[in-house]
Amino acid sequence: MAKTISINAGSSSLKWQLYNMPQEEVIAKGLIERIGLADGISTVKFNGQTKSETKDIPDHTAAVKILLDDLISMDIIASYDEITGVGHRVVAGGEYFKSSTLVTDQVIQQIEELSMLAPLHNPGAVLGIRAFKELLPDVISIAVFDTAFHTTMPEVAYRYPIANRYYTDYKIRKYGAHGTSHQYVAQEAAKVLEKPLEDLKLITCHIGNGVSVTAVKGGKSVDTSMGLTPLGGTMMGTRSGSIDPGVITYLLECDSNLDTPQKIRKALNRDSGLLGISEKSSDMRDILAGKEEGDEKCRLAYEMYIDRLRKYIAQYFAVLNGADAIVFTAGIGENSSLVRKDIISGMTWFGVDIDPAKNVSGAYGVISTDQARVKTMVIPTDEELVIARDVERFKNPTN
Ligand code: ADP
Repeated sequence: MAKTISINAGSSSLKWQLYNMPQEEVIAKGLIERIGLADGISTVKFNGQTKSETKDIPDHTAAVKILLDDLISMDIIASYDEITGVGHRVVAGGEYFKSSTLVTDQVIQQIEELSMLAPLHNPGAVLGIRAFKELLPDVISIAVFDTAFHTTMPEVAYRYPIANRYYTDYKIRKYGAHGTSHQYVAQEAAKVLEKPLEDLKLITCHIGNGVSVTAVKGGKSVDTSMGLTPLGGTMMGTRSGSIDPGVITYLLECDSNLDTPQKIRKALNRDSGLLGISEKSSDMRDILAGKEEGDEKCRLAYEMYIDRLRKYIAQYFAVLNGADAIVFTAGIGENSSLVRKDIISGMTWFGVDIDPAKNVSGAYGVISTDQARVKTMVIPTDEELVIARDVERFKNPTN
């Protein structure tokens, strides 16, 4: 049977999910962590069992070899030939990629070129793509871009009010991210609401380690909170989100420890957000626990996080001139009823109102009261499935 594998490769990790297609049946999934180290970990989930092994995983090719060998040794596949398609998640597609693309040498080079736009993500994706090309050279390989869904944004939204030459010379503009997730949850929300997506105005909130909010009109992204890079927008686990750009030049002038772009990039990407303010953790569960225990820094981090999310949602009410629904997704959006309640309860003027009986753990679909003018929804995201579907479209162009 034809199997497709969805890959999300970072600099030191590789998440995968194997599907029977076109049935869209998940056969197995796994995570390879600590690539580059002698004590790398490969975890495979199959048939209700989890197998985890510590191994020397020097590079991405070794990681992919371990993954393929695990598939064979665990009888998930009989031979490599059963894998007929590989789909790779790529964060930054810049202005090159408006949709998913067949991977060629030129495409790999372009993804590499775009690494400046997603320094935490694109280099890892390239390593993953190359590793699969080396081990499965004849299998169709597709790159699926987080930015593609946002290429429908109008110029008025994607341009920054800086001199034109920075756009023409360097392509500095808003690209957004998490597009695959926003697109998927918008489509699923329309199904739950039993309305054509073309008729809906949605504000989709992907709240995981990375956070982005998107205004979706008629199924198309018209504005999104992340910017040139995935650093922009709301406050995140370790990323600052948007701050006064003057902060950067000010820091350059007053902090001798921050004297290179790399150091500033690290300060804003890795040492900020929930982690920077709480000085405890980037993980929302730890922040919630800290807040419960009376930790003041956790309380402040949490309140700032909610405040920034509300402000972006409010902006998009203006961009869309009203909305039919707010959709929550990803690790925090799907699992934290408290975060959802705290965001929505502070903006009831907009016509939103959560029903506590529906806003429970494991909630799916509409969680607002019947009277709410604007619905609030929870839709679990499934980026891996979108990737597998895109691979399928390339394998069978008539679908
Ligand atoms: P990534 O962006 O890495 O894919 P996820 O979408 O998995 O991240 O989200 C990770 C975040 O979800 C973490 O901050 C984690 O604490 C949070 N999270 C997961 N489950 C819960 C929960 N039950 N309550 C609150 N936060 C949760």
